[in-house]
Amino acid sequence: MTKTFSALHVGIAGAGLAGRMLAWRLLRAGCRVTLLDKQSREAHNTASIVAAAMLSPLAELAVSDRVVFDLGQRSMVLWPQWIDELHAANPTSQAQPVYHRQLGSLVVAHAPDQSHLAHFTRLLRHKLPQAYQQQVQHLDAADLAVLEPALTGRFNQGLYLQGEGQLANDQWMDALALELDRLGVKWHTGVTVQTLEPGRICGKRTGGDSAASDINIAVDLVVDARGVGSKPLLSGLRGVRGEVLRVECHGVVLQRPVRLMHPRYQIYVVPRPDNLFVVGATELESEDTGPVTLRSALELGSALYSLHPAFGEARVLSLSSALRPALDNDQPACVQRDGTWHINGLYRHGYLCAPALVETLTRKILDDTK
Ligand SMILES: Cc1cc2nc3c(=O)[nH]c(=O)nc-3n(C[C@H](O)[C@H](O)[C@H](O)COP(=O)(O)OP(=O)(O)OC[C@H]3O[C@@H](n4cnc5c(N)ncnc54)[C@H](O)[C@@H]3O)c2cc1C
Repeated sequence: MTKTFSALHVGIAGAGLAGRMLAWRLLRAGCRVTLLDKQSREAHNTASIVAAAMLSPLAELAVSDRVVFDLGQRSMVLWPQWIDELHAANPTSQAQPVYHRQLGSLVVAHAPDQSHLAHFTRLLRHKLPQAYQQQVQHLDAADLAVLEPALTGRFNQGLYLQGEGQLANDQWMDALALELDRLGVKWHTGVTVQTLEPGRICGKRTGGDSAASDINIAVDLVVDARGVGSKPLLSGLRGVRGEVLRVECHGVVLQRPVRLMHPRYQIYVVPRPDNLFVVGATELESEDTGPVTLRSALELGSALYSLHPAFGEARVLSLSSALRPALDNDQPACVQRDGTWHINGLYRHGYLCAPALVETLTRKILDDTK
């Protein structure tokens, strides 16, 4: 291909985290971008909006492969830079400043579950490269009380995972949407993309009051970022159901995410601004998109209450579910198939890996254009 960046017109199917972030980086590089999504910009049931958006390269290593850890390490460098870039590009933007912290995270267990904490620690230390071992620190009750005074006297020991963090993903997705508009994206909402081929995206406009109409858009390059919606084109793609609880609580203040080890599941509590907390997440090998089950609501709620009884007075704001897009090897992928780029498989670590993946794909697209 011999086009200049400014002439390159990229069509991206899917305006979730992957689609929006890629659109942003390509627009910044001077490309024209058309973005298509079957939902509105404010869609509440996508993985990208439902997610807790913990940034946990260390804890994720216990349950995933080294490739996720490496992508996560790169992303932990990029997140603060990219959030600053977004704010600096348009300081008068209507978007709220994106809440982002990298103050580490805690892992704790109640006394009967200490063996699960010990196992998690051994597994993590076994998989963690030598250079990162000092980022995992054992805490006694006094250390815990210093880091999170709200947990004083509640746990005898824990782990501190240095450098981990969290992000308010609703703010990030909103801020990206405003910045994409400012940079001139052509965004089609309410369009279900049906076929992708090199140089062309076809679908049906189904949203709004208008009758369904065909959409047929010619572009120079096509990227598929439809999450689980890419199943017809990506073999081995599956949806993994996740459910989260969002509460408001004035009785507890936490600075950082806290993971609670449990014999049957791990639950985490992620603090957000304005006394909000995200409690997650179930992980079910199911593509059921229905509402949260009573069982999951009870498990999430009781784990929260057991972390601190003051959460008993928390107000339940929402219970939501979404499908995480996962590939057979549970690793993210940026691959080109039959002339179309795919960014997918972000699974349970999409926020952790997205900046590094998007950086890689942006570079590949721009290099191919030279
Ligand atoms: C409960 C839960 C908790 C999570 N917690 C974390 C966490 O703490 N940390 C972390 O790093 N990650 C977390 N994740 C994972 C992360 O949210 C996902 O990996 C990531 O959001 C996936 O982004 P995506 O853009 O690939 O997919 P999606 O968010 O699914 O976006 C795909 C988009 O494509 C659109 N689309 C689909 N089909 C079509 C079609 N045919 N035509 C047009 N548009 C279409 C959809 O409407 C959607 O907007 C969590 C996920 C869940 C569900």
